[in-house]
Parts: sequence; C-alpha cells; structure tokens
Amino acid sequence: MSRRMLSEEPAIQALKNAPIDDEPVTAEDRAAIDEAERDVAAGNVIPHDVVCAHWRGTGAQGICEGCGQRFDLSALADDVGPMLLCDACLDAVDAELEDVLLGGDPP
Ligand SMILES: [Zn+2]
Repeated sequence: MSRRMLSEEPAIQALKNAPIDDEPVTAEDRAAIDEAERDVAAGNVIPHDVVCAHWRGTGAQGICEGCGQRFDLSALADDVGPMLLCDACLDAVDAELEDVLLGGDPP
C-alpha cells in the first residue's frame, strides 16, 4: 500500500483549492471580527486541548484534519499541535517526520 503525504489528503487539497473569499466584509462581519479580537486580547478563549478534553467520551464527533472523515472525538489524536488526526493520518504524519528527521527517501 502506498503512503500518501498529508498534503495529498482530500481535506488538505480542498482547503488548498478553495476559492479566495472576495466578498466585502459587512458591518456584521466587522462587528463579529472585532468581538473575537477583543476576546483574544482579553484572554477570553478556551484552548483547543481543553475543549477536546471536555468533549471526549461524550459521544461527540470530530473531523480528522488529514482526511476529512468524521470520527468519535475519542478516536482522534490531538497531540499534533492543534490538529485532530485519525490513526491513519497520524501514521502518515509520523512517517513524514521520520523521513525528514532520518533523511530517508521521500515517499
Ligand atoms: Zn484522517
């Protein structure tokens, strides 16, 4: 079975190929952006890992950021920065890192 680079995963490709949002920012958009920026500046945020920890084991689902498939949140690894990854995508990331760190041949 050939290995796929994370950058080749459908969800990553969809993001790469998404059209640029060129619609003008509305007053409602601006107000929401301003509110979010005020919350971040004031520290009124909940870290991603805390949100995930809260919802694990509740039956909540998450979407793997590598392949875009839906899984029970408990089945997704969240130890790769802010990304949620299924086992297969986590293996792909590990393999890519191993190639980089050990200087192996690219897949
Ligand atoms: Zn995945």
